[in-house]
Amino acid sequence: MGTAPSAEPQLSIVITTADWLHMGEELARIEDAGADFVHIDVMDGCFCPQLTVGPPVIAALKTRLRKDIHLMIEDPLEKVRAYVEAGADMLTFHVEAARHPHRVLQALGPAVKRGIALNPGTPVTAVEPLLDDLELVLVLAVNPGWGGQRFAPSTERRLAAARELIERSGRTVMLGVDGGVTRENVGSIAAMGVDLIVAGSAVFDGGDAAANLRQLRAGAGRAAE
Ligand code: ZN
Repeated sequence: MGTAPSAEPQLSIVITTADWLHMGEELARIEDAGADFVHIDVMDGCFCPQLTVGPPVIAALKTRLRKDIHLMIEDPLEKVRAYVEAGADMLTFHVEAARHPHRVLQALGPAVKRGIALNPGTPVTAVEPLLDDLELVLVLAVNPGWGGQRFAPSTERRLAAARELIERSGRTVMLGVDGGVTRENVGSIAAMGVDLIVAGSAVFDGGDAAANLRQLRAGAGRAAE
């Protein structure tokens, strides 16, 4: 089948709250501490209130990690190509932000792993017609745009519902969760049967990022390297 959740979820680390003046060192730190992906939140000030980075900055980030790009931008159709060219390994956009989400998936094609993200207020069934053309369903546990929000309790049943849709599709699609992950709750989130956990403030806010990431890995059931 290949759709069953992996016992050990992969970790994708958000660098929004890392030290941008020392990004090379920050990336090296999370590479060494066992991150699987670097997660870059792209916000346009329209779909969500903040503004972050775009393709030139993403292209400039030098890392061994795969780049997991999360677009929180309006009308991604005409814009996705630039992110593929900037080096995205995985490219996720919001179903709420695209008038024709299926067309965006077609435009992306197989050159990149394609993801659809769902806000907390969007029914998970919105991805059902799209499952033939994507590789990741990313369930948001918070509303996009602000770090440090609390993990919404409804996320657990949303993840279960998304898993059921994926199983029924018979395709190999990863299930991910983004938002509200802490070093304390990562174990219970891993137990919800996800393949990918996105975490940022749990790594970069307070203390040593490498130690925080190792603690996060251990909490998620990942063996030490
Ligand atoms: Zn994200």
